[in-house]
Amino acid sequence: METRILRGQKTADSIKAEVTRELQELARQNVVPGLATILVGEDPASQIYVRSKARTCEALGMHSESIQLPTETTTEELLEVIDRLNRTDTIDGILVQSPLPDQIDEELILLAVLPEKDVDGFHPQNVGQLCSGKTGLAPCTPMGIMELLKNEEIPIQGAEAVVVGRSNLVGKPLALLLLHQHATVTLCHSRTRNLPEVCRRADILVAAVGRPALLTRDYFKEGVVIIDVGINRIDDLEEVTRLLGEDSERLPKIQEKGSALIGDVHPRDPLGIATAVTSVPGGVGPLTIAHLMKNTVTACKMRRGND
Ligand code: NAD
Repeated sequence: METRILRGQKTADSIKAEVTRELQELARQNVVPGLATILVGEDPASQIYVRSKARTCEALGMHSESIQLPTETTTEELLEVIDRLNRTDTIDGILVQSPLPDQIDEELILLAVLPEKDVDGFHPQNVGQLCSGKTGLAPCTPMGIMELLKNEEIPIQGAEAVVVGRSNLVGKPLALLLLHQHATVTLCHSRTRNLPEVCRRADILVAAVGRPALLTRDYFKEGVVIIDVGINRIDDLEEVTRLLGEDSERLPKIQEKGSALIGDVHPRDPLGIATAVTSVPGGVGPLTIAHLMKNTVTACKMRRGND
């Protein structure tokens, strides 16, 4: 069986094209949506994510404000910043980059962002909306994955969908979104018994675990569509070579860099068994930021009562 490699860029571009159309419409009413990102501390990966979010915002012609706070910031100080942004009319979306330092009470932060500016879809009010089947502001990675499935014409209605990983960020919201699209959903986690056997039921198999190459050949039914959300950096180059194969075209670049990004799905095992599998990197990754832009526009339109 020929296995199609799914790349997120095409879907991300179509999400951004839709955002551009909506921005033009808003510009006619003299409205420019704005996104504020808050980064606490100096985690290098978070710095890259935040910079990339601001850059995408600006490239599309949206307003962006990047706030960098020191590692020792207290919950109260962060709450003050959020309060200011909640009251700033030019800001439609507020994103607090995770992970936050240990001294910060994440629960309080999550509750402090106004639900109508919560472009991450983490506020309990938005989580409740998602549970009841409304997707005003829902988490960006799962929403991006749903766009990808639609764009790639993967049938969802009636399909057996197995999601591995039950985080509030990816697994749980994605399971709900698939359910709303009439899939029969099984949500698995670290205590699921007979995981390979459960996964072999899947027509659509999603891995959002954070364990490199956890899902191997014996997890896949012939013809399955695999969505690999995992992004794991590995710097043991021997292990990387074992996973990718000695003839992998990726190896020279990886050797130069000293590390590789590996998904939660074995990079070679789906080939010949799955109908399609997302690439890592370049599969799900580009969809998250694209959908964040869409959520910012949605938040802007909802707040102005024209959605
Ligand atoms: P998380 O650590 O919050 O959740 C992991 C989940 O996996 C948990 O529910 C846990 O029960 C489950 N799990 C752990 N070990 C397991 C095992 N052995 N078998 C079955 N289930 C197991 O992680 P997350 O935030 O959901 O992220 C998951 C992965 O997706 C990470 O690699 C992360 O980097 C990646 N991610 C990618 C994007 C993107 O834009 N591509 C966005 C978010 C997360």
